[in-house]
Amino acid sequence: GQCIAVCPTAALTEVNNISKVWDALNDDKKTVIVQVAPAIRVSLGEEFGMQPGEIVTGKIVSALKILGFDKIFDTDFAADLTIIEEASELIYRIKNNTKLPMLTSCCPAWIKFFEHQFPDLLDIPSTCKSPHEMFGAIAKTYLAQKMNIDPKNMVIVSIMPCVAKKYEATRPELSNKNIRDVDIVITTREFAKMIREAGIDFNSLKDNNFDNPLGESTGASVIFGTTGGVLEAALRTAYEWITNKPLENIEFNKLRGINGIKEATIKINNININVAVASGLGNARKILEDIKSGRSNYHAIEIMACPGGCVGGGGQPYHHGNLEIISKRAEGLYKEDRSKKLRKSHENPYIQKLYKEFLGEPYGEKAHEILHTHYFKRKKI
Ligand code: SF4
Repeated sequence: GQCIAVCPTAALTEVNNISKVWDALNDDKKTVIVQVAPAIRVSLGEEFGMQPGEIVTGKIVSALKILGFDKIFDTDFAADLTIIEEASELIYRIKNNTKLPMLTSCCPAWIKFFEHQFPDLLDIPSTCKSPHEMFGAIAKTYLAQKMNIDPKNMVIVSIMPCVAKKYEATRPELSNKNIRDVDIVITTREFAKMIREAGIDFNSLKDNNFDNPLGESTGASVIFGTTGGVLEAALRTAYEWITNKPLENIEFNKLRGINGIKEATIKINNININVAVASGLGNARKILEDIKSGRSNYHAIEIMACPGGCVGGGGQPYHHGNLEIISKRAEGLYKEDRSKKLRKSHENPYIQKLYKEFLGEPYGEKAHEILHTHYFKRKKI
């Protein structure tokens, strides 16, 4: 049922999708493509005795190769893409002074929450699909063309820190001509189970690299997995696009840390951009009540249902709300960001190529058709 799927804390039994993935991998007619969310790479190791925050990206790719996936890609690529669209949307709304504050839209538990609880505010969330949905939409159009395969024979598997992503993938509007953007979602814990079922000795795996073109990413996309990261990534790009100058200090420390609500004012040219970050639905509710009553003067707000963001997600290795574990995972992501040569989404050469070869203008007509979505008024529950 839906209440199971949207439960961000996984307190209820989750739907098990492992057998669906094995079936797809055993079907010769299908090209099975997998993507891995940012928050997985700093938590999966815990299932195999490692410390929270230990970065196991290279081992993840090796495990997926052994499991038999045809292409192994990174949701981080699509997080960079999300930033291009979301930063463009934010600049458009600020310039036109419309639909402010813009709310982030990558957390499906949060989207479902506001559709039920704040249906009169439905025009302010960003219309961007979440990164793994953008990934699926690009894979089944751009990549399908490049690989010369029928999107009907493609199976997109998302490995997510999240139980609500299973429900999100079934939303009818997240599809193109009745072909779903994403076919199967499994959680970090289910992925660990598959690795064990296949008898893979995870700890002894060598590092391997994601495939291209949808495997390349910048540091900005890595931090999507923690509270504050989406907004920080969007600001890195929005700043440079508005000012035409390089942003020197790209780490927005005020947006970091596991506090439930964080705020900052960023001066871009002569405009003071007020931003806020909330994690946990109780904190989200407070912020939305302020917007509704007109007490808010924010331009952009990031909201994640899970305290600490996706590193603390309901599909992750059990953390029982332990903030130390969640913080260590977040630290792992910031470390990965610092280790990247490119740390701003608009610098990703594969994203630049995607717009040039296929999408056209950021936030343009084709981008809207493939990468954006809409929301529904739902009954208050
Ligand atoms: Fe899923 Fe992340 Fe939202 Fe939690 S914060 S419900 S893990 S998208």
